Amino acid sequence: LPHHTGVVSHVAVDIGGTLAKLVYFTREIDTADNGGRLNFLNFETHRIDLCINFIRQLKEEHEKCNGSTREGLCVVATGGGAYKYYDRLKEELNVNILREEEMECLIIGLDFFITEIPNEVFTYSDADPEPMQYAEARADVYPYLLVNIGSGVSMIKVSGPRQFERVGGTHLGGGTFWGIMSLLTGSRTFDDMLAMADRGDNSAVDMLVGDIYGMDYTKIGLKSTAIASTFGKVLRLKNDAEQGAEDGEGLIRDDPSEASESSKSSHGAKPNPEDMSRSLLYAISNNIGQIAYLQSEKHSVKHIYFGGSFIRGHRQTMNTLSYAIRFWSKGEKQAYFLRHEGYLGAVGAFIRRQP
Ligand code: ADP
Repeated sequence: LPHHTGVVSHVAVDIGGTLAKLVYFTREIDTADNGGRLNFLNFETHRIDLCINFIRQLKEEHEKCNGSTREGLCVVATGGGAYKYYDRLKEELNVNILREEEMECLIIGLDFFITEIPNEVFTYSDADPEPMQYAEARADVYPYLLVNIGSGVSMIKVSGPRQFERVGGTHLGGGTFWGIMSLLTGSRTFDDMLAMADRGDNSAVDMLVGDIYGMDYTKIGLKSTAIASTFGKVLRLKNDAEQGAEDGEGLIRDDPSEASESSKSSHGAKPNPEDMSRSLLYAISNNIGQIAYLQSEKHSVKHIYFGGSFIRGHRQTMNTLSYAIRFWSKGEKQAYFLRHEGYLGAVGAFIRRQP
């Protein structure tokens, strides 16, 4: 519950497919200076009622501090939910809702973080003794690529202030990880899923180059530990674990209709959830990293920023994305991350309508 001694002046909400991100400013009543703080929090979009209740409390605080003589609380909304829930927000909050375009907000938010906020942007590499390094402020900010990993993924080329184009994306995104993980592991919260990935060993389910070659494939530059096929070992493990596998197993008939019923319904050992989690997290983040690299080549940009709540400051995710960019670009390009990665759109909406 909100509990502030200060004045709530302004609220922005970015309502996405999975999460509603809320940003608001509070200022201490008794301080002479203009100091205050930005507050960040999120709600699951399917519990938009909780989000609305929270904003209602902010509104009540605002009215308590400002009296009824002043203007009412200003609520800025962006993301798909700014359309989907527009009427509901308006009716239940009884405030004016200002809508802002989603991509524009993302870019305004990111530009703000890059140019105005110290210790916000960083690089990440597990290979370094100090993996997380804050990025120096750069004079030449543009062009850059923003890869926003939310439920789905958007890739946006930014050429200058307010100058941008959505150049691509992929629907294999954070929502895919979340959905498949809940099927595979039964875990329900995102942080549980990430914790499982931390404990897992993907080589138990992924087919590695070493599984195929028995050694490094040095001729084409692949280490034995490189993933050749995500989840590629699973069925083999199941078959190995199965007692009394049918004679003739391993012989593949070209006519699928001849497949026996028993081989269709095999119940081998189920790989452990931790290993599957790690594998899936690699799969999703590697795939996004590779597409991001290709887009950066196609559109001639060197600096690639990764945002969206999927990242959630998670080491494996950031290391995989970062490694993919360095590997494919042969060290020419760099991945950047943000401490408030999930809040680009909300912060952008907030700034755009700052009173
Ligand atoms: P959207 O705007 O599409 O809702 P976000 O940037 O908010 O996208 O990212 C949503 C993704 O973030 C989810 O698909 C999931 O992978 C991840 N995520 C991070 N934290 C949570 C959480 N608490 N609940 C659900 N998903 C989360």
